[in-house]
Amino acid sequence: MCGIVGIHGHPEAARLAALALHALQHRGQEGAGIACSDGGTVRTHRSLGLVGEVFGSQDPLEELAGSVAVGHVRYSTSGEKALRNVQPFTVRYRDGQVAIAHNGNLVNAGEIRGRLEQRGSIFNTTSDTEVVLHLLATSIQGTFVNRLVDALLQVEGAYSLCVMTEDTLVAVRDPLGFRPLVLGKLGDATIVASESTALDLLGGEVIREVAPGEMIIVKDGGITSLQPFPRRRRHACIFEHVYFARPNSNVFEQSVYDNRFGWGQRLAKVAPIEADVVVPVPDSGTPAALGYAFESGLTFKQGLIRSHYVGRTFIEPSQQIRDFGVKLKLSPVRSVIAGKRLVVVDDSIVRGTTSRKIVRMLRQAGAAEVHLRICSPPIVASCFYGVDTPTQTELIAHSMSLEETRAHIGADSLAYLPLDELHAQVDPETPATCDACFSGVYPVAPRGSDPNQLPLFENDEPSKV
Ligand code: AMP
Repeated sequence: MCGIVGIHGHPEAARLAALALHALQHRGQEGAGIACSDGGTVRTHRSLGLVGEVFGSQDPLEELAGSVAVGHVRYSTSGEKALRNVQPFTVRYRDGQVAIAHNGNLVNAGEIRGRLEQRGSIFNTTSDTEVVLHLLATSIQGTFVNRLVDALLQVEGAYSLCVMTEDTLVAVRDPLGFRPLVLGKLGDATIVASESTALDLLGGEVIREVAPGEMIIVKDGGITSLQPFPRRRRHACIFEHVYFARPNSNVFEQSVYDNRFGWGQRLAKVAPIEADVVVPVPDSGTPAALGYAFESGLTFKQGLIRSHYVGRTFIEPSQQIRDFGVKLKLSPVRSVIAGKRLVVVDDSIVRGTTSRKIVRMLRQAGAAEVHLRICSPPIVASCFYGVDTPTQTELIAHSMSLEETRAHIGADSLAYLPLDELHAQVDPETPATCDACFSGVYPVAPRGSDPNQLPLFENDEPSKV
């Protein structure tokens, strides 16, 4: 879970990157950074905090002059929460400077790192991304692009990358295309970003998505496209559409909003219930709740109001603070809730903590019945490709049956969207999505012993997976 942007050919590249990172803030709130080149030197500014905090004042951007930039917002799925892990990582090697911004998770980074350390490599970070820089620097290939290809041929897992040198921007997606990356333009400038919302904010135009396994090289105003990796079946992350991406984005060339609305409609068909009102869990459950209400003919009302001054409840790694976070974030609207039979629609249940608290809150506000409808299947397996999910044993659907989960959460009824309905919405003909978190089927074998895979909320502890 991270957001990346790359800009080439704009005199205010760093400023554009900072704006784009604002649009991608939902993809990571832990830290932000931008590297920018004036043609001769790559300068980098990065820090822990939100984009507005890191680039809120003009000063850091004044330092980042130039027309080529890459930017990153971070939410760690590998490596601890520390400044040294905030990207872009910028290094100087024998051929000049390189900066890299990565969204995804490399499943074999631990193995590669171990091998390199045996040979004497010294790592600055605990992030999986740094291995790409080491492999690039030690490659015997003759050009920067070939060295990058050489490095990427050795890594496995999920990566959407923006890599830059003093004068070149390279955007690349792993052959399975786990994480999104879109190519666009703003006048003569070329822009790549995790989601189309970044281009919308800049007033740019989306050209197309960077294809899985495609490497786009932007240099001297020219764009070259390479397919350097063996072709694989596409496995775009379906959870981007379920929860992670912004609803106004097009991700993998599909509207996130339309898919969430469609899943809500499907859920109303497969799990109808007699009720008075449909209430979304804002914001991630809202488009699906609208779809559910539309299909069922029930009234849609905002029974929960979200405070926009606290972030996502997952942001706080400490369980104690997070418990309080639900109340800080959501407040019940008594006039909508009291005496009513509610259908409460949310996007997903991970550990069940949030839903349990929401149901309790709704009952305290006088709800007559609470029927929970979840617009994705039960999450039964951890993600190793860049979405921050807890270890499998912490997932409620891993250890409890549907009825046990319902009882634990305290709802009158509970229904999930079946997996085939999830797919029917996004890829009815040829499944081209990764659904490992819902099916337990991993398209790239995870390495259980990778010490860098993080469990949720225990960012300093090695994973128990
Ligand atoms: P819980 O079941 O208490 O673990 O929390 C589930 C809620 O957290 C869901 O309704 C989503 O809105 C949100 N959520 C789901 N997956 C993630 C994730 N990987 N990172 C942050 N928030 C998430």
